Amino acid sequence: MDTSGKKITILGAGLVGSLLSIFLAKKGYEVSIYERRNDMRAAGAVGGRSINLALSHRGLKALDAVGIKEKIQKSCIPMPGRMIHDMEGQLSFQPYGKEGQFINSVSRGGLNELLMTEAETHGVTIHFEHKCIEVDFESATATFENGRSVTSDFIFGADGAFSALRAAMQKTDRFNFSQEYISAGYKELCMPATADGDFAMDPKALHIWPRGEYMLIALPNLDKSFTCTLFFPFEGKVSFEALKTEEDVMTFFETNFKDALPFLTNLQQEFFENPTSSLITTRCKPWVKGKTALIGDAAHAVVPFYGQGMNAGFEDCFVFNQLLEKYGAINAELLHEYEALRIPDANAIADLALYNFIEMRDKVADEKFILQKKIEKKINELYPEKWVPLYSMTTFSDFRYSEALAMGKKQQAIMDSVLAHPNIEENWEGLDFESIIHLL
Ligand SMILES: Cc1cc2nc3c(=O)[nH]c(=O)nc-3n(C[C@H](O)[C@H](O)[C@H](O)COP(=O)(O)OP(=O)(O)OC[C@H]3O[C@@H](n4cnc5c(N)ncnc54)[C@H](O)[C@@H]3O)c2cc1C
Repeated sequence: MDTSGKKITILGAGLVGSLLSIFLAKKGYEVSIYERRNDMRAAGAVGGRSINLALSHRGLKALDAVGIKEKIQKSCIPMPGRMIHDMEGQLSFQPYGKEGQFINSVSRGGLNELLMTEAETHGVTIHFEHKCIEVDFESATATFENGRSVTSDFIFGADGAFSALRAAMQKTDRFNFSQEYISAGYKELCMPATADGDFAMDPKALHIWPRGEYMLIALPNLDKSFTCTLFFPFEGKVSFEALKTEEDVMTFFETNFKDALPFLTNLQQEFFENPTSSLITTRCKPWVKGKTALIGDAAHAVVPFYGQGMNAGFEDCFVFNQLLEKYGAINAELLHEYEALRIPDANAIADLALYNFIEMRDKVADEKFILQKKIEKKINELYPEKWVPLYSMTTFSDFRYSEALAMGKKQQAIMDSVLAHPNIEENWEGLDFESIIHLL
């Protein structure tokens, strides 16, 4: 496969497709995006509901590479840590990293709109209401539901977790694909600004109400509201299925999220009107077939508990761009290296994200977990080059996700033995930190 041609088709004008188009346009490619939906900007909406995401180092690095980091940071709210809400409404703050490190709450729709507009200023054409239904890998032809067919030099599938390009690949020989839904789903709820126009809670944190098998989280928005998300089992004794009436919902929130309840002013209506959505992990290999390649969620949908899905997709774009600089064209070597680098990393962030659900909904409230974080912080202060906590490797660094996962497993084995020391709660400050580092 060698594409010296400059005509590129991208399926999907979501976050990743829009960003990829900017990278490619800046390299002189003639890029057309075909998007299933209508133009969210013309509809005047990001809709009634504000949905937000956590944007962190990997995503920002990619936005910086196309020169729009500062523009986007203007509409971000920094969140330097988690605010844990216990059953009584008592608060405790856990920093995510070192002083000055934070993740960013950003509007999903706002970011998508900005990326699309930026893409257009670089000459990218976006064709809305074009749902791809079939792809021919060898001729790089995409066919759409409206009857149109478009042939170009190369096609990227940036069309999300249920990608049409990937579906076409799945029909071919020796294509590996797996998908797994977790037993929990999610529902978004709005916590509006208070009557005097302020945030209902501290906006400088990602709020978590960890409750073992489930949790509520909240991220701040620029309009001083919070978007809350309830991650909750679909079925079972305590589940979406079990909350049948408005009274059930009120009683459940009164018991479990007492301090949030007064601010969820439209809870009963939203609980029954807002959709309950599912959470999927997909893995596949290869990502490249003929003159086509997958990117973003189309290649790797992960559960949202590490706040990395979009960040990972943006990093795909960043890496692809680096490879374009190395090879000068979309050729077989580039595509081979793209897969070799990104597939293991996508699988690693999928594993990390699944694990982090347990950490967020359960462990953050656990004394041993809090102690481990304290010990790791101390080791990191003493040996910043040698011991970087897993969360920081994943969120604030350029470590490959696969390296972070492997190192995290080693660190956890060491920490398990450290935490097993008798009376570790009282005497952890006297640990021989130097010998701990040597165990790595
Ligand atoms: C509840 C939740 C919270 C999340 N929180 C975070 C977070 O905090 N941080 C983070 O980094 N990530 C987060 N994510 C993940 C993030 O949303 C995704 O990783 C990201 O949206 C992927 O971008 P994408 O462009 O690859 O796919 P998408 O955003 O799904 O975009 C795909 C686009 O393709 C279009 N499309 C689909 N099918 C077709 C077709 N057949 N033809 C043409 N167009 C098509 C769609 O309309 C869409 O515009 C979260 C996800 C969920 C579900």
